Amino acid sequence: LAQLFRPLDLLGMVYRTIRQGVIDMGAMFDLVDTPATIVDAPDATVLSVPRGHVRFEDVRFGYEPGRDILKGIDLEIAPGSTLAVVGPSGAGKSTLARLMYRFYDLTGGRITIDDQDIAQVTQASLRAAIGIVPQDTVLFNDTIGYNIAYGREGAGQPEIERAAQGAAIAGFIERQTDGYATRVGERGLKLSGGEKQRVAIARTLLKNPPVLILDEATSALDSRTEADILDTLEAIERDRTTIVIAHRLSTVVDADQIVVLDAGRIAERGSHAELLRHRGLYADMWARQAREREEALAAE
Ligand code: ATP
Repeated sequence: LAQLFRPLDLLGMVYRTIRQGVIDMGAMFDLVDTPATIVDAPDATVLSVPRGHVRFEDVRFGYEPGRDILKGIDLEIAPGSTLAVVGPSGAGKSTLARLMYRFYDLTGGRITIDDQDIAQVTQASLRAAIGIVPQDTVLFNDTIGYNIAYGREGAGQPEIERAAQGAAIAGFIERQTDGYATRVGERGLKLSGGEKQRVAIARTLLKNPPVLILDEATSALDSRTEADILDTLEAIERDRTTIVIAHRLSTVVDADQIVVLDAGRIAERGSHAELLRHRGLYADMWARQAREREEALAAE
Protein backbone atom coordinates (compact mmCIF):
# COMPACT_ATOMS: atom_id res chain seq x y z
CA LEU A 1 0.00 0.00 0.00
CA ALA A 2 3.01 2.25 0.42
CA GLN A 3 3.03 2.76 -3.34
CA LEU A 4 -0.44 4.15 -3.16
CA PHE A 5 0.63 7.09 -1.06
CA ARG A 6 4.21 7.67 -2.15
CA PRO A 7 3.42 10.18 -4.93
CA LEU A 8 1.99 12.41 -2.23
CA ASP A 9 5.43 12.88 -0.74
CA LEU A 10 6.54 14.53 -3.94
CA LEU A 11 3.39 16.40 -4.64
CA GLY A 12 2.55 17.56 -1.16
CA MET A 13 4.63 20.68 -1.39
CA VAL A 14 3.59 21.56 -4.91
CA TYR A 15 0.00 20.97 -4.07
CA ARG A 16 0.05 23.24 -1.07
CA THR A 17 1.51 26.00 -3.16
CA ILE A 18 -1.21 25.60 -5.75
CA ARG A 19 -3.92 25.62 -3.19
CA GLN A 20 -3.27 27.07 0.22
CA GLY A 21 -6.65 26.19 1.67
CA VAL A 22 -7.22 23.14 3.81
CA ILE A 23 -8.65 20.47 1.58
CA ASP A 24 -9.91 16.98 1.83
CA MET A 25 -7.42 14.13 1.56
CA GLY A 26 -9.61 12.62 -1.13
CA ALA A 27 -9.32 15.70 -3.30
CA MET A 28 -5.59 15.33 -3.15
CA PHE A 29 -5.79 11.72 -4.25
CA ASP A 30 -7.91 12.89 -7.17
CA LEU A 31 -5.19 15.19 -8.30
CA VAL A 32 -2.35 12.79 -7.83
CA ASP A 33 -3.36 9.37 -8.74
CA THR A 34 -6.78 8.83 -10.20
CA PRO A 35 -6.48 7.78 -13.81
CA ALA A 36 -8.52 9.97 -16.15
CA THR A 37 -10.76 7.02 -16.93
CA ILE A 38 -12.46 7.25 -13.56
CA VAL A 39 -15.40 9.55 -14.04
CA ASP A 40 -18.66 9.93 -12.21
CA ALA A 41 -21.52 8.05 -13.81
CA PRO A 42 -23.90 10.53 -15.53
CA ASP A 43 -26.59 9.76 -12.99
CA ALA A 44 -24.22 9.36 -10.03
CA THR A 45 -25.87 9.80 -6.66
CA VAL A 46 -24.43 11.07 -3.41
CA LEU A 47 -23.29 8.18 -1.21
CA SER A 48 -25.13 8.01 2.06
CA VAL A 49 -23.53 5.94 4.84
CA PRO A 50 -25.89 5.51 7.77
CA ARG A 51 -24.36 2.16 8.80
CA GLY A 52 -21.08 1.47 7.03
CA HIS A 53 -21.86 -2.00 5.69
CA VAL A 54 -19.21 -2.89 3.11
CA ARG A 55 -19.45 -5.72 0.60
CA PHE A 56 -17.17 -7.05 -2.12
CA GLU A 57 -19.10 -9.29 -4.51
CA ASP A 58 -17.00 -11.44 -6.83
CA VAL A 59 -14.55 -8.57 -7.32
CA ARG A 60 -12.19 -9.06 -10.26
CA PHE A 61 -9.46 -6.74 -11.34
CA GLY A 62 -6.19 -6.54 -13.27
CA TYR A 63 -3.97 -3.53 -14.02
CA GLU A 64 -3.29 -4.96 -17.47
CA PRO A 65 -5.55 -7.02 -19.69
CA GLY A 66 -4.90 -10.73 -19.33
CA ARG A 67 -3.16 -10.45 -15.95
CA ASP A 68 -5.71 -10.68 -13.18
CA ILE A 69 -4.56 -9.50 -9.80
CA LEU A 70 -7.83 -10.13 -7.93
CA LYS A 71 -9.66 -13.22 -9.09
CA GLY A 72 -13.10 -13.15 -7.50
CA ILE A 73 -13.09 -11.68 -4.01
CA ASP A 74 -16.15 -11.95 -1.76
CA LEU A 75 -16.10 -10.04 1.49
CA GLU A 76 -18.64 -8.75 3.91
CA ILE A 77 -17.63 -6.28 6.59
CA ALA A 78 -20.37 -5.69 9.11
CA PRO A 79 -21.01 -2.10 10.21
CA GLY A 80 -18.45 -1.02 12.79
CA SER A 81 -16.39 -4.20 12.50
CA THR A 82 -12.75 -4.68 11.55
CA LEU A 83 -11.41 -6.76 8.71
CA ALA A 84 -7.69 -7.46 8.54
CA VAL A 85 -6.12 -8.41 5.24
CA VAL A 86 -2.88 -10.33 5.39
CA GLY A 87 -0.88 -12.30 2.88
CA PRO A 88 2.43 -12.48 1.08
CA SER A 89 3.91 -9.52 -0.74
CA GLY A 90 2.25 -8.99 -4.12
CA ALA A 91 -0.88 -10.90 -3.11
CA GLY A 92 -3.09 -7.90 -3.92
CA LYS A 93 -3.72 -6.39 -0.47
CA SER A 94 -3.02 -2.80 -1.49
CA THR A 95 -4.98 -3.28 -4.67
CA LEU A 96 -8.02 -4.14 -2.59
CA ALA A 97 -7.69 -0.83 -0.73
CA ARG A 98 -7.20 1.12 -3.97
CA LEU A 99 -10.37 -0.36 -5.43
CA MET A 100 -12.33 0.54 -2.33
CA TYR A 101 -11.29 4.17 -2.86
CA ARG A 102 -12.10 3.75 -6.55
CA PHE A 103 -8.72 4.53 -8.00
CA TYR A 104 -9.64 2.01 -10.67
CA ASP A 105 -12.82 0.46 -11.94
CA LEU A 106 -13.36 -3.26 -11.56
CA THR A 107 -13.28 -5.69 -14.43
CA GLY A 108 -16.01 -7.72 -12.75
CA GLY A 109 -18.23 -7.83 -9.70
CA ARG A 110 -19.03 -4.88 -7.47
CA ILE A 111 -18.21 -3.14 -4.22
CA THR A 112 -21.06 -1.68 -2.22
CA ILE A 113 -21.28 0.54 0.85
CA ASP A 114 -24.69 0.39 2.51
CA ASP A 115 -26.01 -1.30 -0.64
CA GLN A 116 -24.87 1.46 -2.98
CA ASP A 117 -22.46 0.42 -5.75
CA ILE A 118 -19.39 2.63 -5.36
CA ALA A 119 -19.16 2.97 -9.15
CA GLN A 120 -22.59 4.63 -9.14
CA VAL A 121 -21.96 7.34 -6.55
CA THR A 122 -20.00 10.57 -6.90
CA GLN A 123 -16.28 10.21 -6.23
CA ALA A 124 -16.41 13.22 -3.93
CA SER A 125 -19.03 11.59 -1.70
CA LEU A 126 -17.18 8.25 -1.74
CA ARG A 127 -13.92 9.82 -0.67
CA ALA A 128 -15.57 11.96 1.96
CA ALA A 129 -16.86 8.76 3.58
CA ILE A 130 -13.51 7.00 3.70
CA GLY A 131 -10.57 7.93 5.89
CA ILE A 132 -7.09 6.64 5.22
CA VAL A 133 -4.24 6.36 7.66
CA PRO A 134 -1.26 5.72 5.40
CA GLN A 135 2.10 4.23 6.37
CA ASP A 136 3.98 7.32 5.40
CA THR A 137 2.20 10.47 6.36
CA VAL A 138 2.85 13.60 4.38
CA LEU A 139 3.61 16.54 6.61
CA PHE A 140 3.45 20.04 5.24
CA ASN A 141 6.09 22.61 6.05
CA ASP A 142 3.68 24.39 8.29
CA THR A 143 2.60 24.28 11.92
CA ILE A 144 1.65 21.07 13.61
CA GLY A 145 -1.81 22.56 14.20
CA TYR A 146 -2.22 23.12 10.45
CA ASN A 147 -1.12 19.59 9.78
CA ILE A 148 -3.86 18.22 12.02
CA ALA A 149 -6.53 20.68 10.86
CA TYR A 150 -5.95 19.40 7.35
CA GLY A 151 -8.29 16.54 8.28
CA ARG A 152 -11.30 18.81 8.07
CA GLU A 153 -11.88 22.18 6.56
CA GLY A 154 -12.77 24.82 9.12
CA ALA A 155 -11.83 22.86 12.24
CA GLY A 156 -11.44 25.09 15.29
CA GLN A 157 -8.66 24.97 17.88
CA PRO A 158 -10.66 23.05 20.52
CA GLU A 159 -11.51 20.32 17.99
CA ILE A 160 -7.88 20.15 16.87
CA GLU A 161 -6.78 19.69 20.46
CA ARG A 162 -9.39 17.00 21.07
CA ALA A 163 -8.18 15.13 17.99
CA ALA A 164 -4.58 15.43 19.17
CA GLN A 165 -5.60 14.00 22.54
CA GLY A 166 -7.42 11.13 20.86
CA ALA A 167 -4.30 10.37 18.85
CA ALA A 168 -2.11 10.57 21.98
CA ILE A 169 0.06 13.32 20.59
CA ALA A 170 -1.30 16.29 22.57
CA GLY A 171 1.30 15.94 25.34
CA PHE A 172 4.12 15.91 22.83
CA ILE A 173 2.76 19.05 21.12
CA GLU A 174 2.26 20.90 24.38
CA ARG A 175 5.86 20.24 25.35
CA GLN A 176 7.10 22.13 22.27
CA THR A 177 8.00 25.79 22.79
CA ASP A 178 5.37 27.06 20.38
CA GLY A 179 2.76 24.38 21.09
CA TYR A 180 0.37 23.92 18.17
CA ALA A 181 2.12 26.76 16.33
CA THR A 182 5.38 24.79 16.23
CA ARG A 183 6.57 24.43 12.67
CA VAL A 184 7.28 20.95 11.35
CA GLY A 185 8.88 19.66 8.19
CA GLU A 186 12.12 20.40 6.47
CA ARG A 187 12.88 23.61 8.32
CA GLY A 188 11.10 22.78 11.53
CA LEU A 189 10.66 20.03 14.04
CA LYS A 190 11.36 16.56 12.70
CA LEU A 191 8.83 13.97 13.75
CA SER A 192 9.53 10.27 14.12
CA GLY A 193 7.58 7.70 12.10
CA GLY A 194 5.34 7.00 15.08
CA GLU A 195 4.67 10.71 15.70
CA LYS A 196 3.80 11.27 12.05
CA GLN A 197 1.40 8.38 12.17
CA ARG A 198 -0.26 9.97 15.16
CA VAL A 199 -0.71 13.19 13.20
CA ALA A 200 -2.45 11.09 10.53
CA ILE A 201 -4.63 9.54 13.21
CA ALA A 202 -5.52 12.98 14.58
CA ARG A 203 -6.47 14.14 11.06
CA THR A 204 -8.68 11.11 10.67
CA LEU A 205 -10.35 11.69 14.02
CA LEU A 206 -11.20 15.20 12.82
CA LYS A 207 -12.55 13.92 9.53
CA ASN A 208 -14.56 11.31 11.42
CA PRO A 209 -15.30 9.07 8.44
CA PRO A 210 -17.66 6.08 8.78
CA VAL A 211 -15.23 3.86 6.87
CA LEU A 212 -11.53 3.61 7.56
CA ILE A 213 -8.61 2.10 5.66
CA LEU A 214 -5.55 1.59 7.74
CA ASP A 215 -2.23 0.83 6.20
CA GLU A 216 -0.08 -0.51 8.90
CA ALA A 217 3.51 0.63 8.82
CA THR A 218 5.96 -1.99 7.68
CA SER A 219 8.91 -0.13 9.08
CA ALA A 220 10.19 -1.57 12.31
CA LEU A 221 8.97 0.28 15.37
CA ASP A 222 10.37 -0.53 18.77
CA SER A 223 7.95 -2.62 20.79
CA ARG A 224 7.01 0.25 23.14
CA THR A 225 6.07 2.59 20.26
CA GLU A 226 4.23 -0.24 18.57
CA ALA A 227 2.18 -0.93 21.69
CA ASP A 228 1.36 2.81 22.06
CA ILE A 229 0.23 3.08 18.47
CA LEU A 230 -1.88 -0.05 18.72
CA ASP A 231 -3.78 1.49 21.62
CA THR A 232 -4.42 4.64 19.62
CA LEU A 233 -5.53 2.74 16.56
CA GLU A 234 -7.99 0.81 18.65
CA ALA A 235 -9.58 4.12 19.58
CA ILE A 236 -10.17 5.16 15.98
CA GLU A 237 -11.35 1.76 14.82
CA ARG A 238 -14.07 1.71 17.42
CA ASP A 239 -17.54 2.19 15.88
CA ARG A 240 -16.13 2.44 12.37
CA THR A 241 -16.02 -0.09 9.61
CA THR A 242 -12.29 -0.68 9.25
CA ILE A 243 -10.07 -2.45 6.76
CA VAL A 244 -6.54 -2.99 8.01
CA ILE A 245 -3.84 -3.88 5.55
CA ALA A 246 -1.63 -5.69 7.99
CA HIS A 247 2.01 -6.48 7.64
CA ARG A 248 2.64 -7.60 11.17
CA LEU A 249 0.29 -10.19 12.56
CA SER A 250 0.55 -8.84 16.09
CA THR A 251 -1.91 -6.12 15.05
CA VAL A 252 -4.62 -8.41 13.68
CA VAL A 253 -5.25 -10.68 16.62
CA ASP A 254 -8.33 -8.73 17.69
CA ALA A 255 -9.83 -8.18 14.24
CA ASP A 256 -13.39 -9.47 13.88
CA GLN A 257 -12.39 -11.16 10.67
CA ILE A 258 -9.06 -11.97 9.03
CA VAL A 259 -8.63 -12.87 5.38
CA VAL A 260 -5.46 -14.33 3.96
CA LEU A 261 -4.99 -13.22 0.39
CA ASP A 262 -2.78 -15.34 -1.78
CA ALA A 263 -2.25 -14.76 -5.50
CA GLY A 264 -5.48 -12.79 -5.85
CA ARG A 265 -7.75 -15.20 -4.04
CA ILE A 266 -8.90 -15.57 -0.47
CA ALA A 267 -7.02 -18.60 0.75
CA GLU A 268 -8.28 -18.59 4.34
CA ARG A 269 -10.68 -16.59 6.46
CA GLY A 270 -11.71 -16.57 10.09
CA SER A 271 -10.76 -15.22 13.49
CA HIS A 272 -7.21 -15.44 14.79
CA ALA A 273 -8.03 -18.51 16.89
CA GLU A 274 -9.85 -20.23 14.03
CA LEU A 275 -7.00 -19.64 11.63
CA LEU A 276 -4.42 -20.95 14.08
CA ARG A 277 -6.46 -24.12 14.51
CA HIS A 278 -6.65 -24.47 10.74
CA ARG A 279 -2.84 -24.86 10.62
CA GLY A 280 -2.58 -23.33 7.16
CA LEU A 281 -0.89 -20.26 5.69
CA TYR A 282 -1.90 -18.00 8.55
CA ALA A 283 -0.61 -20.37 11.20
CA ASP A 284 2.70 -20.58 9.34
CA MET A 285 2.96 -16.78 9.08
CA TRP A 286 2.15 -16.47 12.75
CA ALA A 287 4.81 -18.96 13.80
CA ARG A 288 7.40 -17.23 11.63
CA GLN A 289 6.60 -13.74 12.90
CA ALA A 290 6.51 -14.90 16.51
CA ARG A 291 10.04 -16.20 16.07
CA GLU A 292 11.15 -12.92 14.51
CA ARG A 293 9.54 -10.95 17.31
CA GLU A 294 11.38 -12.93 19.92
CA GLU A 295 14.65 -12.38 18.14
CA ALA A 296 13.97 -8.63 17.89
CA LEU A 297 13.07 -8.42 21.57
CA ALA A 298 16.22 -10.25 22.51
CA ALA A 299 18.22 -7.74 20.47
CA GLU A 300 16.56 -4.61 21.97
P1 ATP B 1 2.82 -5.71 -0.43
O1 ATP B 1 2.53 -6.46 0.82
O2 ATP B 1 4.21 -5.98 -0.94
O3 ATP B 1 2.50 -4.25 -0.36
P2 ATP B 1 0.34 -6.31 -1.85
O4 ATP B 1 -0.28 -7.59 -1.41
O5 ATP B 1 -0.20 -5.07 -1.29
O6 ATP B 1 1.92 -6.37 -1.62
P3 ATP B 1 -0.32 -5.16 -4.44
O7 ATP B 1 0.44 -3.89 -4.25
O8 ATP B 1 -1.79 -5.11 -4.32
O9 ATP B 1 0.25 -6.30 -3.45
O10 ATP B 1 0.09 -5.74 -5.85
C1 ATP B 1 -0.47 -6.92 -6.40
C2 ATP B 1 0.12 -7.15 -7.77
O11 ATP B 1 -0.25 -6.08 -8.65
C3 ATP B 1 1.63 -7.20 -7.80
O12 ATP B 1 2.01 -8.25 -8.66
C4 ATP B 1 2.05 -5.88 -8.38
O13 ATP B 1 3.23 -6.02 -9.12
C5 ATP B 1 0.89 -5.52 -9.28
N1 ATP B 1 0.69 -4.05 -9.36
C6 ATP B 1 0.52 -3.22 -8.33
N2 ATP B 1 0.34 -1.95 -8.75
C7 ATP B 1 0.38 -1.97 -10.10
C8 ATP B 1 0.25 -0.99 -11.14
N3 ATP B 1 0.02 0.30 -10.84
N4 ATP B 1 0.37 -1.40 -12.42
C9 ATP B 1 0.60 -2.71 -12.72
N5 ATP B 1 0.72 -3.68 -11.80
C10 ATP B 1 0.62 -3.34 -10.50
